[in-house]
Amino acid sequence: MGRIAIVTGGTRGIGAAISRHLKDGGYVVAATYRGNESSANAFRVETGIGVYKWDVGDYAACEAGVRGIEKDLGGPAEILVNNAGITRDAMLHKMAPSQWNEVIATDLSSCFNMCRVVIGSMRERGFGRIVNISSINGQKGQVGQTNYAAAKAGILGFTKALALETASKGITVNAVAPGYIATDMVAAVPKEVLVKIEAQIPIGRLGQADEIARVVKFLVSDEARFITGSTVTVNGGQYMA
Ligand code: NDP
Repeated sequence: MGRIAIVTGGTRGIGAAISRHLKDGGYVVAATYRGNESSANAFRVETGIGVYKWDVGDYAACEAGVRGIEKDLGGPAEILVNNAGITRDAMLHKMAPSQWNEVIATDLSSCFNMCRVVIGSMRERGFGRIVNISSINGQKGQVGQTNYAAAKAGILGFTKALALETASKGITVNAVAPGYIATDMVAAVPKEVLVKIEAQIPIGRLGQADEIARVVKFLVSDEARFITGSTVTVNGGQYMA
């Protein structure tokens, strides 16, 4: 049996592409989601990948969810991709505390929650691959996204610290920082703003979810065993970190 991989937010957008690529690579994949049942069901029927619903911002739910997946799939998770994320954009002077808290919980605390649940068995087995999905806007900042930029920048520090803690245990921890990728999240950006963003991408177009998924697939492979604590930037040249 292939290694067990959990992809949070793995039923739509970038996460769905990651789930598909890992399945094609021989991994046994579990994809999580928050509440969009129709997308999750369509994804499950199309791919045959098991889908699991919980809020990654809730520690107890992560613990119960991961244990359920491990029971269903018959072993511990050896690959974890922390991909689930949301935006709740507003200028800071108009941002409600709920907008701040929801983004920090979903985009950053989720990484603690999920890693905390799987790290013990990875340490015991002497193998693990963790990839955390950050963002170009965590690297350079973005108007209207103090919450999102803080969460995504926080992921980079979290990734480096956990990489140091686990390097001697056969576990690698890396971050991928996508630029603007054509998914539902970007479809929510107003058209006139998107035109301006596209003009700032030297390659001249939005990225595709598959272009992020291929990087993740490499980072979780045995071939990437000497890469840990890295941030891989995939943004069409928009920001050179
Ligand atoms: P989408 O909005 O297309 O999909 C998000 C996925 O995350 C869905 O499966 C959703 O579940 C799930 N999700 C959201 N909140 C939770 C939660 N609280 N608990 C569990 N699952 C949750 O996002 P993208 O594919 O565009 O983005 C994926 C990741 O990539 C995010 O972390 C995002 O910040 C990052 N990113 C995206 C960029 C882009 O241009 N698209 C650029 C840079 C980074 P459900 O379907 O049930 O809602």
